[in-house]
Amino acid sequence: MTIYRGTVLDTPQSPFAGGVLRAEADAGLAVEAGVIVDRGPFARVRAARPADQVVELAGGVLLPGLVDTHVHFPQVRVIAGLGMPLLDWLEKCALPEEARMADSGYAREVAGEFVDGLVRAGTTTALVFGAHFAPAVDCLFEQAAASGLRVSAGLVVSDRILRPELLTSPEQALADGLALAGRWHRKDRLRYAVTPRFSLSTTGALLESCAALLREVDGALFTSHVNENTAEVDTVRGLFPECTSYVDTYHRAGLLNRRSVLAHNVHPTDPELDALAATGASVAHCPSSNSALGSGLFPLRRHVERGVRVALGTDVGAGTSFSLLREGLQSYFMQALLGADGLPLTSAHMLYLATAAGAAALDLDQQVGDLSVGKQFDAVWVAPQAGSTLDVVLRHAADADDALAKVFALAGPSDVRRVWVGGDRAGAEPGHT
Ligand SMILES: [Zn+2]
Repeated sequence: MTIYRGTVLDTPQSPFAGGVLRAEADAGLAVEAGVIVDRGPFARVRAARPADQVVELAGGVLLPGLVDTHVHFPQVRVIAGLGMPLLDWLEKCALPEEARMADSGYAREVAGEFVDGLVRAGTTTALVFGAHFAPAVDCLFEQAAASGLRVSAGLVVSDRILRPELLTSPEQALADGLALAGRWHRKDRLRYAVTPRFSLSTTGALLESCAALLREVDGALFTSHVNENTAEVDTVRGLFPECTSYVDTYHRAGLLNRRSVLAHNVHPTDPELDALAATGASVAHCPSSNSALGSGLFPLRRHVERGVRVALGTDVGAGTSFSLLREGLQSYFMQALLGADGLPLTSAHMLYLATAAGAAALDLDQQVGDLSVGKQFDAVWVAPQAGSTLDVVLRHAADADDALAKVFALAGPSDVRRVWVGGDRAGAEPGHT
């Protein structure tokens, strides 16, 4: 058994429902077989377990492992293709790189870079958009399994509009999905996610095949994009005249439930929000991506008021980094810019969105998302370099909420000192091999 000693911050209760930041200075977390079995003042926890090993995490803060609910593995190398709206960016930047995933050697290299990027950012759990090619998705799962991260992913499918090499058929999509899920679903910490790229590039028949796959694979997730950009929304409306809305294209096919995550939803109607709330589906809010592509300002207040579950995604490569801390800060900026329509965020809101909300969206909230007794020890120790600006401001923080705001404002991957998943170390300490 191991006792981790440090300053622990988490959000076991949603700040959107009255919860506050739980902060304990000089706390002890006793971990056995990857599970937190005791938590409290270090002196008490230590006294109860005098023979246990103590890991000192002096300085900085210990947070729950970060949860990324929307990120694209094939797009690592095209991060920061700036200057284009969504549909131009897809055509000129993302889809040519997606096509390169047909080469499994290329895909294996990128999958390694991708998983490494997650760990370095302190991400321990992710819902990942895979590739359009099944062997490339195998590469991702192989790398994810080796890393120990909690990764849900799947084959990305489309059967219209995109370049021909990225297209499949409803029959092939189902067969490939079943084969991949058979190899990877519920193996270690991996799960399968049924993943049509978006309704703009799928026929109703392909969405039906996705629904068949979702029924076949018990416990699988569903993920796609929705309402990201107004030109995209208009095009989808024309492609699905029988549907009442973009959300309805998925809802009507039977694809929305508590394990469904739709990215963006920047331009929803009220009936769409009500449909998401009624089905329990979640929205992956990706504020850096929305800002980089000029997609719009996310109406968080409307989501919360209508009961829609929201978590954070980096949306690499339209998003500009793997850091959920940066996404939390960007979500704060976005709500501030919305003025009276915005929902002012505290540092506790940002932490909740980057941890427990993501765990709930991925149906993992019984296991991860905060550092309570009974949860897996998925954690990230954020500790600044001595003399850095983050170090200076943390030493002068007024209280724990203020310190956490400083972490969101200033911490980057170089401040992510250690990462654990289920009690196991993930990745290497910065500066070490
Ligand atoms: Zn995306």
